[in-house]
Amino acid sequence: MARIELRNLVKRYGDGFPAINDVSLDIADGEFVILVGPSGCGKSTLLRMIVGLEDISEGDLLIDGKRVNDLAPRDRDLAMVFQNYALYPHLTVGENIAFPLRLNHSKVPESEIAGRVQRAADMLELNDHLDRKPANLSGGQRQRVAMGRAIVRDAKAFLFDEPLSNLDAKLRGQMRTEIARMQRALATTTVYVTHDQTEALTLGDRVAVLRKGVLQQVASPRELYEQPVNLFVAGFIGSPPMNFLPARVRGDVLELPFGTVPKPAVVGGEHDGKLLIVGVRPEHFDDVEVTDAPAGAVTFDVQVDVTEWLGNELYAYVPFEAEAETRKQLEELDRELDGESLRNQLVVTLDAMSSVRDGDAA
Ligand code: ATP
Repeated sequence: MARIELRNLVKRYGDGFPAINDVSLDIADGEFVILVGPSGCGKSTLLRMIVGLEDISEGDLLIDGKRVNDLAPRDRDLAMVFQNYALYPHLTVGENIAFPLRLNHSKVPESEIAGRVQRAADMLELNDHLDRKPANLSGGQRQRVAMGRAIVRDAKAFLFDEPLSNLDAKLRGQMRTEIARMQRALATTTVYVTHDQTEALTLGDRVAVLRKGVLQQVASPRELYEQPVNLFVAGFIGSPPMNFLPARVRGDVLELPFGTVPKPAVVGGEHDGKLLIVGVRPEHFDDVEVTDAPAGAVTFDVQVDVTEWLGNELYAYVPFEAEAETRKQLEELDRELDGESLRNQLVVTLDAMSSVRDGDAA
């Protein structure tokens, strides 16, 4: 097991803007850290820098306190699991799992190999498939073999690069639970790259959000969801995404496109008259008759544009008109956030049991 320290890491490909820009992160021994961010933000690059498949342009990478920038990948003793599994087609499952142990530098005696392969196969329920070739396995079984090859080595850390993205939704759910169970049982330091919201929020002890090579926030999933540090994190974490609304501060109230709400304590007097962006999670709306609204609730009459029924919940889309000035500001913010988060509509998550018809109040 290992502690991994990233100190001011920079990666430049050619002379464009850095793919990784001054990233610092301490990963504790046994910790499970998730790297998330939109496509092209540098997640894979950062993982490949840790494992040694990419050179580090600037900064230091330490494993257990020792600088390893110039150490060859095989000498870092880290096990990487790739999205495409990278199995050897001509070898059986057992031989694939044993492969890292048979490499010259691994120094594992042949007499020990069978036992180690057996233990990995037990853990991953691959015992019945040890003599098969990868071509005769399902996607989920292949992914297990790839994981077997990582755990058989007693590596210092596991590095996963979107390991479940080639699997269908059901299998992805099953494998996600298995990875969580395996990591807990082995307590091996793990860095896991994904763009899947569910994996990001359920698997890790901490989640690191990257945008354009810059680390935005590193926090527990709950903290990230409840206390995002900026609009980007607020809009990126959560599905459906957080709604952003323009709000004008007027004395004790905020004027939203539909009406007014009491001004929250965090908005100080210095903002009076100014335009703010207010974030509201879709699940914080409810569908009620105005006369039945609970005390303290703020109600708006809105037109529901489109609804999507998902069985246990229902998404309602609510368009809104912003005044010209606020629309301009929204558009500017939208450009700044790469169109990730701001739209001229609200997404509202409702209990699917309550019937919502076009035109209902939300
Ligand atoms: P995705 O989720 O799409 O896999 P990512 O977050 O893993 O994306 P990276 O693959 O790390 O992103 O790429 C980060 C940036 O570095 C991108 O702008 C990409 O085009 C650039 N990049 C990656 N590899 C190279 C390379 N070998 N040469 C030049 N640029 C590269």
